[in-house]
Amino acid sequence: MLQSATDLSGFRRAARDLLARQIAPEQVAWHSSSALTQDLFALPSVLQASTQTHGNGSTASIKVPPDFLTLCQTVILHSDPNRFGLLYRLLWRLVHEPALRHDPLDADRVQAQHMAQAVRRDMHKMKAFVRFRTVEDHTFQTHPHGGPLHVAWFEPEHYIVEATAPFFIRRFTQMRWAILTPECSIEWRLGSGSTGSLEVGPGASKHDAPAADADEALWLTYYQHIFNPARLKLKMMQKEMPKRYWKNLPEAQFISELTAASSQRRMNMIEQAPSEPRRRIPIFAEGTAATARAQAASDVEQILGHMQQGEKPLTLQALNAAAQACRACPIGQHATQAVCGHGPARARVMVVGEQPGDQEDLRGRPLVGPSGQLFDRALADLGWNRADLFLTNAVKHFKYEPRGKRRMHKTPSQLEAAACLHWLESEIDLVKPEAVIALGATAASSLIGRKVAVMSERGQWFSRADGLRVLVTLHPAALLRAPQNQQAKAYIAWLQDLAQASGHVATGPAQPGVG
Ligand code: URA
Repeated sequence: MLQSATDLSGFRRAARDLLARQIAPEQVAWHSSSALTQDLFALPSVLQASTQTHGNGSTASIKVPPDFLTLCQTVILHSDPNRFGLLYRLLWRLVHEPALRHDPLDADRVQAQHMAQAVRRDMHKMKAFVRFRTVEDHTFQTHPHGGPLHVAWFEPEHYIVEATAPFFIRRFTQMRWAILTPECSIEWRLGSGSTGSLEVGPGASKHDAPAADADEALWLTYYQHIFNPARLKLKMMQKEMPKRYWKNLPEAQFISELTAASSQRRMNMIEQAPSEPRRRIPIFAEGTAATARAQAASDVEQILGHMQQGEKPLTLQALNAAAQACRACPIGQHATQAVCGHGPARARVMVVGEQPGDQEDLRGRPLVGPSGQLFDRALADLGWNRADLFLTNAVKHFKYEPRGKRRMHKTPSQLEAAACLHWLESEIDLVKPEAVIALGATAASSLIGRKVAVMSERGQWFSRADGLRVLVTLHPAALLRAPQNQQAKAYIAWLQDLAQASGHVATGPAQPGVG
C-alpha cells in the first residue's frame, strides 16, 4: 500500500518487488481509494495467489537509466490516477526492452514526458501565482520576530504543494507563512535563530484564507502602474496566466480594463522618442586593465593581419579573440561581444544556430537563453550530452533593434551572414566534426551555400563539397513561436529530425572544452 498519493519510496519498493517476481504490468492493478489522500497498490487476489511461485525475489539485477528516477519523481506528482501504471510499465519495458532507452519517441516515454512537463508547469504557476495576505493572529504576540502570519490560497492541478515548498522556504525563510490548498496545507514555522520547520496539514477551503488586506491594495496599485501596454500580448499572457488561476489572483480584476485601454496607451508611447539601451558588459575593463587591453588589441591586430593574407586562426582561442574585433558588418559595433563556439575542441557533432540572442550576448556562450533551454530539453530526451557537442552560430554578433530598454532580436541579412561565414568555416576547420546540425534557415544556408527552405528540407542530410554532412532542422525559436496547441507535435517532429544524428553523438569522454 502506498502511504500517500506521492509516495515515491512506496512505489519503488512495490515496483521492485513486482519486477523481482516477474509480474507484468498488465497483470497489476493500481487502485486509488481516494484521489486526495491515499492511493492503494494491490494485486488482484487470483494473481497474488499465483505469483507466489514465481521468481526468487531478487532485485539485484534491476538497472535503469538514472534519469528514469528523476522522471518518476516528477510524474508521481501528476493527478492522473494511471501514473503508477505508466511508470511501472516503463520500468518493466526498460528492463525487458533494452532498445527503449534509445527511443525517445516511444509512446509511453512521450506520455511520461508530457506528464512531467504538466507537473513542472503547475509548480511554476504555484511559484508565480501564490499571493499572501497578512493575518495578525494571536501567535503574532509570541512570535514577534517572524512578524504577522502570511496566508495564501492556491488551487494546484497536481500534487505539487510539498514539492514546491522548498522554493517558498528559500524565498521567505524569515517570514511566517502558510499556503492553503484543497489537498493539503503547508505552514512554515519559525524556530529560534534562522531555523524553521515545515508543517504539512490537511486540505482547507477558500473561506479559511483571509480577506484582502492593506498590502494587497498597495500591490494592486503597483500592478496597475507597471502594466506596460506596449508589451501586451494577450495570447501569450493567457498562456502564461491561464484563466483558471484568475479567480485567486487579485490583480486579475484589472486585466480586462487595462487591456482595453492598451492600444491608446501604446500609441502615446510610440510618439515618444526611444531611449538607447546601454551596452551592458564592457568588452574590456577600464583602468588597471589598460595594459592587458593594449596587449589583447595588438594580438588581435596580428591575427586579423594574418587572416587578411588568407591564413586561418590556429586555435579556437585565437579565433575567439580575433572575432571580438570583427567589424566586417555593422552588427558587431552594437553587440556586447562576439559569441563564438563552445564545446570540445574535437567534438564529433557541431550544432549551428542562427546568432546569439540577448542572453548569449551578455554571457558570451551560445544557446543559453530560451532557445538553448528548449535545446537542452531535447538533448535530455534524446539522451545526448551537451558536453559532447560543439555549439556555435552562423553569425557571431547579436543583431537587435532597441525597444525601450529591451533589445529585440532581428534576423541577420544574407550579406551579414555571408560576412560572418569565414568564422564558422574556421571553426569547422579546427574542430573537424563528422556531422553538423543546422538549426534554422540562416545556419542551413550558411553551411550548404544556397537558400534552404527549412520546412520542406528538414530532417534531411546534405553533403557539402568538402564531404561534411549537414542535417537540417528547425531552429528552437520556431518551436517556441508555434501556437500552443501545436507545440507538442512540433517538438516530437523536431526530436525525430535531431535523432537522425544520434549515431554521431559521442559516448566516450569529451575532450577539454573552450570558449
Ligand atoms: N539562437 C541561436 O540561434 N543561437 C543562440 O546562441 C541563441 C539563440
